[in-house]
Amino acid sequence: MPLSICVLASGSSGNATFVSSGNTHLLIDSGLSTTELQRRIKAIGYETADINGILITHAHSDHYRAAGSLSRRLHIPVFAPQTTIDVIRSRSSKKRYRRLGSADTVPDAIGDISIKCFPVQHGGEDRNAGEPIGFVVTNGDASFALATDVGRASQEIIAALQGTRAVQIESNYDEEILNRKLTDPEHRTDWEYLRWVKSDDGHLSNTQCAELLALSISESTTDIFLGHLSENHPNPKSDNNSFELARQAVIHSLRQAEKPIPAIHRTYRTGLRKGQSSILLKLE
Ligand SMILES: [Zn+2]
Ligand SMILES: [Zn+2]
Repeated sequence: MPLSICVLASGSSGNATFVSSGNTHLLIDSGLSTTELQRRIKAIGYETADINGILITHAHSDHYRAAGSLSRRLHIPVFAPQTTIDVIRSRSSKKRYRRLGSADTVPDAIGDISIKCFPVQHGGEDRNAGEPIGFVVTNGDASFALATDVGRASQEIIAALQGTRAVQIESNYDEEILNRKLTDPEHRTDWEYLRWVKSDDGHLSNTQCAELLALSISESTTDIFLGHLSENHPNPKSDNNSFELARQAVIHSLRQAEKPIPAIHRTYRTGLRKGQSSILLKLE
């Protein structure tokens, strides 16, 4: 059976990636409204009720928004490091619909999909994200690594991406756009947030993402999803990136490193335009 992957949404307004071996169906993150998540899963030919587990990368609500209702109403188990579960539970108590049902630490496998976690740096003191992690999920010869919401590149991420067939990695902002805003008084009210984005607890820039890929991927990697792009905000002035800028940075970096260039797929932030799911990739 092929491993099927679809990035249902990616970005600061909501994240969810669907992974299926044919027998086992998983969500990595569930940061859309329950209704929208169900609609998108149905649109690619699957049923939310058939999901066998929800893996959560970290305790920011754009990654777990629907986890409460899916775990309680549909009894889909949630898996994340205990610290992350504790942070989500501590935040969700007043909002019943978000209250987590069954939640446990991440197992080595769910059904015929094996799971490995790796640590990433993200969140920090003022934006507590629990214990942020990325995932590598594998079925047979097909493996998929997901690293989103990452403050900085690390040996752990590089090692995790090596040898995988497909990768979802964040390419959040263009350095020039962000640096310009940080010197422009018109954006003064955003400075605190933008400084965090740029910090080791924030997000990867296009260059950081591109350099990380050049260090980690090889011929085995056939597909890359670029995610958590800062674009398509209701106010376009909030955009710090575009898919094309991110894509060009990756191509440039891979060429310089004399690496083969895999297919580079778009993911969509829900925002000004409703956004949409990525392609449904099937790794044979
Ligand atoms: Zn996020
Ligand atoms: Zn985050």
